[in-house]
Amino acid sequence: MYYDSDTEKRMLTILKAREERSSFQKELINRYHQSLISYTLNIPGKIKRSTEIDMFFYVGWEKILSLLTTENILHLSVKDKPTGLEGFVVSSENAEQLKRRMIQLEESIPPFRLLDIDVFDKDFTQISRRECKLPPRRCLLCSQEAALCCKMQTHNSFELSAYCQKLIHEFLSERRAQS
Ligand SMILES: [Zn+2]
Repeated sequence: MYYDSDTEKRMLTILKAREERSSFQKELINRYHQSLISYTLNIPGKIKRSTEIDMFFYVGWEKILSLLTTENILHLSVKDKPTGLEGFVVSSENAEQLKRRMIQLEESIPPFRLLDIDVFDKDFTQISRRECKLPPRRCLLCSQEAALCCKMQTHNSFELSAYCQKLIHEFLSERRAQS
């Protein structure tokens, strides 16, 4: 497949961020030997950063923290990357229980399906939805499995991107109106 240089640059930036994230995760596990939550937003398309996207990240971040027992938190940090903000929490709570709570949060309202919350146990094994006996993630636009739509490229990235921006915008507007 041929990519233009802009697309290539973008892909490399994403790849680099993913590698850096993975090595930081490993570093945290090695340092603490406890459960790890690694949080990013799952925003399809070219635009990964905007004031609204960042605001939305922090709404999710606060929600995540509100579901944790403060005394059990050993590490907290947010990294600022061109591909998006990234949040990390190390907790002495059970990884599977943490994952369940995070899935409940992701499924609580449609905009929170943009939260991408990975949970690892102290051996750096990622806890999957399947292990928690929960069905796979659904696509945002249709009722199919998200992984399937992604693989088949059922929806184009403009469509997905526009839908996500709209979800975030409406969520923040409603929130502002309520406060
Ligand atoms: Zn779909």
